[in-house]
Amino acid sequence: MSNRSIGLDDRLYQYLLSVSLREPEILRRLREETAAIPQAGMQISPEQGQFMALLVKLTGAVRVLEIGVFTGYSSTAFALALPEHGRITAFDISEEWTSVARRYWELAGVADKIDLRLGPAIEKLDTLIAGGQAVGTYDFAFIDADKENYDGYYERALQLLRPGGLLLIDNVLWGGSVADEAKDDVDTAAIRALNRKIHADGRVEISLLPVADGVTLAMKLNEAPRH
Ligand code: SAM
Ligand code: CA
Repeated sequence: MSNRSIGLDDRLYQYLLSVSLREPEILRRLREETAAIPQAGMQISPEQGQFMALLVKLTGAVRVLEIGVFTGYSSTAFALALPEHGRITAFDISEEWTSVARRYWELAGVADKIDLRLGPAIEKLDTLIAGGQAVGTYDFAFIDADKENYDGYYERALQLLRPGGLLLIDNVLWGGSVADEAKDDVDTAAIRALNRKIHADGRVEISLLPVADGVTLAMKLNEAPRH
């Protein structure tokens, strides 16, 4: 027995799924279709989707921001968890991969809930922020796009969230590379730097969960009072 997070071998992982996964049929089909493409490893796992969908419900989120759509697994899971009037603003740069997402949003009956902004997400987020009206209005955000821009996404998502809003950041353990001194590629360095920055960031309350490839939960705090 130990109070450390347990490592999951294949047998225990399969057991976890067998007693807890309740994957909607439409998400299973999306996962099977995505499995055929070489980049399938970018997709979140089904139990992570279920966990984040539960968080959407727990927080009562209505307005969701997603940075990194790929073929649509997480966005569809969020959309299914949202109330009828819930809305997702989603960002991705790939027409090809998001065309799969769009097809599944239609099949899942959630297409009306999702506003996809195609292009470099930093630019698209800046446009949204510059409009003024969206700042401080989102309840929930998920960052899962290119790791090099993670810090830029973090800062912009914080602006767009309301105080008390929840930000999730994916892949913060990056397959263990973040703790491996021999690894110093651009992606590892970017994730490491953001992890360190968030640890010391008084604007958020945090928890880093060793779920899947590591997920940081960060709740935006109220602005510090000005004196
Ligand atoms: N959340 C997705 C899911 O549930 O399957 C996985 C997202 S995948 C890890 C990362 C996505 O980020 C890819 O679809 C890629 O096209 C997108 N991306 C990469 N660079 C980007 C950029 N500069 N701006 C916007 N999207 C970008
Ligand atoms: Ca990811």
